[in-house]
Amino acid sequence: MRLRFAPSPTGFLHIGNLRTAICNYLIAKKYNAQFVLRIEDTDLDRSSKESEESIIYDLKWAGIEWNEGPDIGGECGPYRQSERFEIYKEYTDKLLQKGYAYYCYCNQEELDEMRKKGISENKSFVYSGKCKELSEKEIVKFKNEGRKPSVRFSVPEEQTITIDDLVKGRVRFDSDNIGGDFIIVRPDGIPVYNYIVVIDDALMKITHVIRGEDHLSNTPKQMLIARALNLPEPLYAHHGLMLGQDRGKLSKRHGITSVEMYRKEGYLPQALMNYLAMLGWAAESGEEIMPLSDIVEQIDIENLAKTPAVFDFQKLKWMNGNYIRDYPINELTELLIPYIQQTGYNLDGKDTSWLENVAGLLRGNCEVLSDIGNLIGIFMEDVVEPDEDTDKLLREDYSKKIIEASYKLIQFSIDEKNYSDNLVNDIKNETSLKGKKLFLPIRAILTGRIKGPELDKAIPVIGFDKCRMRIEYMFNKYI
Ligand code: GLU
Repeated sequence: MRLRFAPSPTGFLHIGNLRTAICNYLIAKKYNAQFVLRIEDTDLDRSSKESEESIIYDLKWAGIEWNEGPDIGGECGPYRQSERFEIYKEYTDKLLQKGYAYYCYCNQEELDEMRKKGISENKSFVYSGKCKELSEKEIVKFKNEGRKPSVRFSVPEEQTITIDDLVKGRVRFDSDNIGGDFIIVRPDGIPVYNYIVVIDDALMKITHVIRGEDHLSNTPKQMLIARALNLPEPLYAHHGLMLGQDRGKLSKRHGITSVEMYRKEGYLPQALMNYLAMLGWAAESGEEIMPLSDIVEQIDIENLAKTPAVFDFQKLKWMNGNYIRDYPINELTELLIPYIQQTGYNLDGKDTSWLENVAGLLRGNCEVLSDIGNLIGIFMEDVVEPDEDTDKLLREDYSKKIIEASYKLIQFSIDEKNYSDNLVNDIKNETSLKGKKLFLPIRAILTGRIKGPELDKAIPVIGFDKCRMRIEYMFNKYI
């Protein structure tokens, strides 16, 4: 079994394409298949080396590995379509010779005319086949005019093309309804996707093509070409697409769509892999957070999403938070450091154990790694300005009692060495408050927030000096 992922390097890696890559990768893992990365860069105007590099970077970051590809080579290379033009040319010659394809000299104006006619008759554009039977004389005339021909594939009439799609089931197309004779090589000599994908899949010995259902309508064209060239046909599996909450095509207006942005916001690749892999199907146990090995065991081509699945940003966030909570603390700390620095905090002088301690205390409140930027202030600032909810709480009478008691303690009676063990208890004894009325104001005074890390663990990390400054600050502000 051989699978492939074939991105076009015309921009960043879209989250929807990452999902296709993940499906291929997991199925390859399941069946111990070879997995090929092929770069489809024949759109020379829109393709770029930077895009290819960023796609490869993001795929690797996501944890996807391939056995053959442009970066590592392999026995069916080259793996960039732009390096395979010679190969395609041979096949084009074959198609022309055998009459499966012909030169088309129609220029833009003539094609526009046909398009207009189609529109006026309420039909979609179908090439008229005008150049199929050109006489020698006409050809010479066009050549003398300097016209550059495209090559069109001659679509056979009245044929039913049946796809036994591994996900969608049997799908039938009528050759008369696939848009007529289509271009396989443009006038500038560049062959088009629908054509060369067939040659590459065959020469790269791809047995299963797993891709989004937006390519289903291309499949009959690809099958006709394979048959004309007598090339082996892969099995097809078209999975449902990913939609936004409004069931429209997932785009920027729904949220972030580039894998790079997910990476930068601090999603963990494991969470993204888990979420995307399971979009559209559910584990028998109902579990949603599953290690890769379990997903590989349960996923299969037949249970890839048959219908479009809505991409739920909130759920992905929730899942990411879960992964953050379970991540090995030393690795998580390494991942968090750049986000802390990005927020502008200098970590000089903070040793690993301090950082790990802080990461351990705050990870429960992080859904994405970048959340750390809003939280770390508790341990870095001298005083923390209360947010709106905290401000409201601190204006309550019982809070004021606590502010006064803690101020008194910190000024007069607390033993600096044992403050972290005694502070809460001393305030409790002094005010006789308990439960939420005790703990929430103390948290609010010491952290400026009403939610956050476990207080008894946070207090020693905040340190005596900062606790004192914050109590004084709140005293001056609220009393
Ligand atoms: N280059 C195509 C794309 O990115 C690949 C489609 C296919 O998998 O055949 O959509």
